[in-house]
Amino acid sequence: MSIPDLPPPNKRLGQNFLIDPNIVRKIVALAELQPSDHVLEIGPGRGILTEALSRAAGRVTAIEVDSRLHAYLETRQAELPNVELVCEDALAYPVESLPIGTVVVANLPYYISTPLLFRLLDQRGRFLRMVLMLQAEVADRLVAKPGGSDYGVLSVMAQYAAEITKSFRVSAQCFRPRPEVASAVVLLRTKERTRLSQQEEVEFRALVKAAFAHRRKTLVNSLRDEGYELLSVAEGLKQLDIAPTRRAETLSVEDFLRLAHALG
Ligand code: SAM
Repeated sequence: MSIPDLPPPNKRLGQNFLIDPNIVRKIVALAELQPSDHVLEIGPGRGILTEALSRAAGRVTAIEVDSRLHAYLETRQAELPNVELVCEDALAYPVESLPIGTVVVANLPYYISTPLLFRLLDQRGRFLRMVLMLQAEVADRLVAKPGGSDYGVLSVMAQYAAEITKSFRVSAQCFRPRPEVASAVVLLRTKERTRLSQQEEVEFRALVKAAFAHRRKTLVNSLRDEGYELLSVAEGLKQLDIAPTRRAETLSVEDFLRLAHALG
């Protein structure tokens, strides 16, 4: 097989490649991989992280959407004997086919990091932990506490599903080409047991989304505008001793869970 040239970066696909081996080491150390672990890597790119994961874990599934990079990585398959290279959109990949206990380690393509996060969190029963490089602003939203402008649907849904730590920031100089936004690595340890059934979780997410749909309005008005019945919302809030004039961003994850229960 002739070796394809390394293709130039495609900005549209969020291709900012890591070039700093120290950051690669720190990411892999954070994942605490064992030789028996199965790893899912989203976006292996030119393979800098894939190589390190291949050495630290038992098996790696690496999903790359760019067929040029996939073809390049295939030429290196002999160096990566325990890596399954998949050429597919990670948003369409059936993660349900991965073994339970899989660890996710990825420098995510930033343009789809939020839908990818939701997809991974939806399937959290399969993933023990995730070490993810994200834009710093998304990392801030993931760990945000009530009261600030970073706190929103992503914060509530992610903190409901996982214990999250923002581990370290990564300078733009560690990438080529350099990203225009700051980056950070987060560790998400998925919660083994969450309190809602699948159906209740759908309702919980709908409630959280509706509550934040009109951030500047009061909770009652935002929920009413999103089709919730005013009287039941008012009654539910009264039961929980939550003032109807409060805004969604002041409610804790626990408050949202109690409110979903009261309205359910
Ligand atoms: N892991 C490499 C590194 O750290 O240097 C590359 C990281 S780069 C930020 C993101 C990678 O995700 C790129 O290789 C890009 O082609 C790939 N990518 C973009 N969209 C994707 C998608 N929908 N599914 C899978 N991979 C995708």
